[in-house]
Amino acid sequence: MEKDSRIFIAGHRGLVGSRVLLNLQSKGYEHLITRGREELDLLDQRAVFDFFETEQIDYCIVAAAKVGGIIYNQNHQADFLYENLVTAANTLHASAMNGVKKLLFLGSSCIYPKMSPQPIKEEYLLTGPLEPTNEGYAIAKIAGLKMCEKYHEQYGKCFISVMPTNLYGPGDNFHPEHSHVIPGMMRRFHEAKCAGQDEVVIWGTGTPRREFLFIEDLAEAIHTLMLQYNEPSTINVGTGSDCSIMELAELMKKVVGFEGKISRDLSKPDGTPRKVLDVSKVRSLGWEPTHSLEEGLIKTYAWALENKALPKI
Ligand code: GDP
Repeated sequence: MEKDSRIFIAGHRGLVGSRVLLNLQSKGYEHLITRGREELDLLDQRAVFDFFETEQIDYCIVAAAKVGGIIYNQNHQADFLYENLVTAANTLHASAMNGVKKLLFLGSSCIYPKMSPQPIKEEYLLTGPLEPTNEGYAIAKIAGLKMCEKYHEQYGKCFISVMPTNLYGPGDNFHPEHSHVIPGMMRRFHEAKCAGQDEVVIWGTGTPRREFLFIEDLAEAIHTLMLQYNEPSTINVGTGSDCSIMELAELMKKVVGFEGKISRDLSKPDGTPRKVLDVSKVRSLGWEPTHSLEEGLIKTYAWALENKALPKI
């Protein structure tokens, strides 16, 4: 990937895409191509094929996806399956047919089996049943990464797939129900602090364990992988360490400056008991995260306040 290559970032307004765009801009890439949904609907096969034919894209990063937290995902499985499947099929096939030199497709760690041994190695994919709360999303993402593999094998295309762990950071969605745990919780702690409440309720038992990666670290990893990784098999990107949801809540309480107590809503789903990736493969390329969870949360909270992503009370 050269500084004057034509690079298309699909999904440049999302959490991942927006940070990848900033990262590549800061490194001096000159031809970064983006399209908003109103200009190019990635579900429209004809439009996507026309776009790739006209724009002569050299490199493509597929960060476009329909994403959401555990409950929203669970209740919209058909939409998650359809939109993510068609987005992957359209962008990958159009890239293959129009001379794209390299493509990076983003999956997610939730594609691994629910009861996978931990830490999760790349080869554990498709070795057991999926977590039911996000099965639709996972099936679509698995199809995308299998497309990368098969286009590699059949057509010799350099299509790579990356499995990031749970992500968070500036640009996240802070919706109270649709969001993932970090922005969802941050909002609840912030609202409680501002309203002078003495209690914050978190979802589930607090015992599930998750690994969290700050979005700036992922953007840096994506750049490294675009330059150095060309294998058909997928590659995990994460910190390699996890914490319980209750430990996350305690840290969130400190970062936001809330002084009351934390209680649990046991009617909400826990999801997968533990999700931590084996990251030896990506580390062997020389990449490693530079933010601790606390540093990442501090930056995210500052961004949310500055950008009015959290409600004023
Ligand atoms: P998951 O990693 O696919 O399960 O997605 P989430 O990020 O939505 O949830 C992770 C864990 O955090 C689950 O066990 C949730 O029950 C728990 N959790 C606790 N409080 C919240 C919250 O406010 N929002 C969300 N989305 N999850 C929460």
